[in-house]
Amino acid sequence: MNSELTLEKYKKAISRNQNSYKFALGLALIQTINNNRRVYYEEIIRKVADIYFKHHFIYKINESNNPNQVPIVITILEEYLKNVYGNISNIKKLSKEDLNALSVYLINPKKITNIINSPLVATKLTTNKGFFYYTLPCWQKAEKIKGKSYYDYSNSGENDFFLYDSNKKVLLIKEDFINLINTRKELLTDITVGQWVKFTEKFNLIPRLYQKISLDKPNRTTSKFNDIFDNLAVLEGDACIICNKKIYKDKTLDHLIPFSYIFSCELWNLARAHRTCNSSKNDKIGSQEMIDKLVRRNIRLWKLEDEIPSKYKNIYLNHFKSNFISINDMVQKIYKAVLECKSAGFEQMKDRESKRQKHEVEDINIISSIPDFTEVFTNGSLDNNKIIY
Ligand SMILES: [Zn+2]
Repeated sequence: MNSELTLEKYKKAISRNQNSYKFALGLALIQTINNNRRVYYEEIIRKVADIYFKHHFIYKINESNNPNQVPIVITILEEYLKNVYGNISNIKKLSKEDLNALSVYLINPKKITNIINSPLVATKLTTNKGFFYYTLPCWQKAEKIKGKSYYDYSNSGENDFFLYDSNKKVLLIKEDFINLINTRKELLTDITVGQWVKFTEKFNLIPRLYQKISLDKPNRTTSKFNDIFDNLAVLEGDACIICNKKIYKDKTLDHLIPFSYIFSCELWNLARAHRTCNSSKNDKIGSQEMIDKLVRRNIRLWKLEDEIPSKYKNIYLNHFKSNFISINDMVQKIYKAVLECKSAGFEQMKDRESKRQKHEVEDINIISSIPDFTEVFTNGSLDNNKIIY
């Protein structure tokens, strides 16, 4: 076998019978293997724990379309973190100790049952045989035993990429796969992340899913948007989205849906705000009134496409237009993103909170000629055919 052939086999393996464990194992292998033929389950599972932690707790990615059926790996992470830290909403990163403990629990979920409180969850984990038991035998072939309805979950086995031995908890990586990883690491990562994105995008509306799944560091600089907000009138760059008053100095850009949920700076989600208003809003979602205003502005911005000066075209396309397929799609996605952000635990500002802000400057009259869609979109009974632009 040569590396081109191994690459073709990898593509096939990763795109058949998909589930998030398969992608996680693929990514973990790509990132763990260097020149060692022998890789222990423990090394791999640390990567897996880190991937799921960031996906679920930092980026709030749904790994399945049923929020009540999260992968067992996430249940274990959650139970462990609750036990150690109590409040888990502020944890930004797993420590070495966390990863040590988690690697034991994820390989053998039974071991975590003595530190968790819910008997229901405990029972579920007692019968679970761990990440590798389910993932390794099915990783490439995913074939059921002839004449039976279940997979061959043997303790040891072999595929085109590795041999595994669950008694010794070790993988023996095949030469061709090591060569492939060493020479085409980026491509393999692209293939794996690409398939994972395709698998999850149906039930995730947050932007830049690729960047998040691949664990690229998100970039929080809004400075490249300053110029367009200073010069493009439709963006109302001299009015504060939070208090509606004029801004003379200390202009900032606010993420209406918080950056710590979106993890990306997008023109459609940014609006000017006073520094003080912005910092008092903190990590909350903009009030319903503010979101409506943002949506109306975005509709006007969408319609202006032909008049956008060429120096802003790039930013306009990449951070606005390319995120949506139509005005309807945009409106729908923004309201849905607000709902998803709320259900991920973010608080939304009350409408009166934004009015309470005091500034010694005159009001700016924000034109609102576009009808109010809030009700249509927030009660979930959206009918695309009823709204025509
Ligand atoms: Zn303000």
